Amino acid sequence: MSVFSTASIEALAEAEEAARFWSNVRKGHGDQCWVWAAGTMGRGYGHVRIGGVDTSAHRLSWTITFGQIQPGLCVCHRCDNPPCIRPDHLFLGTQGENQRDASRKRRLVGNRYAFGELSARAKLTESEVLQIRAASGRQVDIAAAFGVNQQHVSSIKRGVRCWQHLTDGRVRASRPTKKTAEDRTSEGYLARKAAANAARFWAKVSKPDGDGCWEWTARRGYNGYGQFSLDGRHCLAHRFSWFLLTGHFPEGLLVLHKCDNRACVRPGHLSVGNSSDNMQDTIRKGRMRPRRGDASPGAKLTSQAVVDICADPRPHRTIAADYGVSSSLVGLLKSGNRWRHLPRLISQI
Ligand SMILES: [Zn+2]
Ligand SMILES: [Zn+2]
Repeated sequence: MSVFSTASIEALAEAEEAARFWSNVRKGHGDQCWVWAAGTMGRGYGHVRIGGVDTSAHRLSWTITFGQIQPGLCVCHRCDNPPCIRPDHLFLGTQGENQRDASRKRRLVGNRYAFGELSARAKLTESEVLQIRAASGRQVDIAAAFGVNQQHVSSIKRGVRCWQHLTDGRVRASRPTKKTAEDRTSEGYLARKAAANAARFWAKVSKPDGDGCWEWTARRGYNGYGQFSLDGRHCLAHRFSWFLLTGHFPEGLLVLHKCDNRACVRPGHLSVGNSSDNMQDTIRKGRMRPRRGDASPGAKLTSQAVVDICADPRPHRTIAADYGVSSSLVGLLKSGNRWRHLPRLISQI
């Protein structure tokens, strides 16, 4: 049984293997299982080979999400579905607890976490669903041939309501319902982009030895967060890093920095929390006051330069060229519409 340390989990993210790992998962809706869709080992457990070590996919999912597993403990399934690797369907237990739990669950009829073939209510097998999708002819005839109603055939063919997790080469899940721009930091969007963009992402990160921050070396936003370009739009680099490692965001939560360095994308320095955790953290670390002027991470000028610009009688265009800013900014500075906290300072000079 392999034991992964925090360091080797970070190495996993670094090796871009985490994104590939999560791309092998078919996610059910709501609180349904996330089923491992690649190779399996005995008793239906997902098999994964990572850094030359063979392990089960659900154990790796637990380790990535919650950390190291103490020797002698099993990772058990609340949902009693061996190929499931959804972290909140897993719990740690001893071998004995695992067996007692399994025999208790086998007596339960129906399992609300199960979907697809595993659902007690399933009328079709996965291969029948794929045949229905591929079948041509009248839906009423197909329905009769497979012993289901026509509405069911129609749903399967349109990829709505049922069997959406089942793909036949085409990705059907999480189709945007509206034509509006999709949220680039959403889980569905990142899931589709993760594996293909992981190598490009890590190439933009500087990783010193030791416990230091892994800083984003490419573009940063005005707020100091790293920005990673996906399809010509920006997503937040630290969110993408968290997603590469864990494959999901716990519902409605933010990705926070334990190290208080917004440019850092090191998975071990990130955590998830809600906006109130973030606010508490902000207050505790004294980041509450907005950073202005020289202290702003996006500042192009120093306070002294602004004072000099305001006192400069030359045409705006000439001043702008000297300081490498736009002439409209020079106008805004002179009229007191930018660096507004400075006029008091200027009057004191
Ligand atoms: Zn499950
Ligand atoms: Zn850091």
